[in-house]
Amino acid sequence: MAILAAAQAVPVAASWGFARFVNVSDEHGATPLHLAARQGHPACVRLLLDKGAIVSAPTAAYGFPGSTALHLAARAGNLDCIRELLAWGADRLQRDSVGRIAYAVALKRGHAACAALLNPSAAEPMVWPSPLKFIGELKADAKALLEAALMEANRGRERKILKGTRYCPPSPAHSAAAAEVDLCSICFEQACNIQVQDCGHQMCAACTLALCCHSKPNPTTLLMQPPACPFCRTTISRLVVASKAAAEPERQASPSLSRRRSRRSREGMQQQLQGALVGCGRSCC
Ligand SMILES: [Zn+2]
Ligand SMILES: [Zn+2]
Repeated sequence: MAILAAAQAVPVAASWGFARFVNVSDEHGATPLHLAARQGHPACVRLLLDKGAIVSAPTAAYGFPGSTALHLAARAGNLDCIRELLAWGADRLQRDSVGRIAYAVALKRGHAACAALLNPSAAEPMVWPSPLKFIGELKADAKALLEAALMEANRGRERKILKGTRYCPPSPAHSAAAAEVDLCSICFEQACNIQVQDCGHQMCAACTLALCCHSKPNPTTLLMQPPACPFCRTTISRLVVASKAAAEPERQASPSLSRRRSRRSREGMQQQLQGALVGCGRSCC
């Protein structure tokens, strides 16, 4: 972290470009991401990806020629690194120089749980949605909540993939059930913990992710558009951690009318977002 912060400060960033610095490779074609994945440092993997490391970069001679970070994590059996890489959109079908996908590497090395997640026919993990990269001011605390929701969604998928094996991750304690919290009015399952700062509307982190996965590039310009608030269609430019005291704009109208209206729009939104959750995978993100 200190090295990256120093590199972001003037001289290196100005002369090299920061992205080039993050993706610098040694004489064997190994980048910092390759090393972190092979050595089993998931926090480093996440930090590097967050700072612009190229997830699909292949090595030259390092490891096995043409290996990606995913191949190297598979080879070493680093399950947490594999989770991080997949959540960033690492391609399970990318091949090394002899045509092996990471799944084949994990199988050969006897890493059964890694192989199960890397199996191209297993459920695709949820990927950190690219529109979130376009939201200028995603505060660190809101980002942490969204990341936690994404990893939790993936753990749910993992439980299905690894069901009945000794690698099955434990079930989570349900966060929203016991405590007195405002339930998300889209899914009615999770606590409302993310707020669109511009309009004050709130939803849970999982629904926010689904919403961002659902957002598609503009068909004519192919540019990613920031997602819109599902309640009022305001473009989301800032996401923050929900504050309890936030005013609910709908309550300003006649209470009975607004309640009816919100229930109807809520049903539509639920369908839309559940569709997004089911359909969410690399192809749409
Ligand atoms: Zn929700
Ligand atoms: Zn709104």
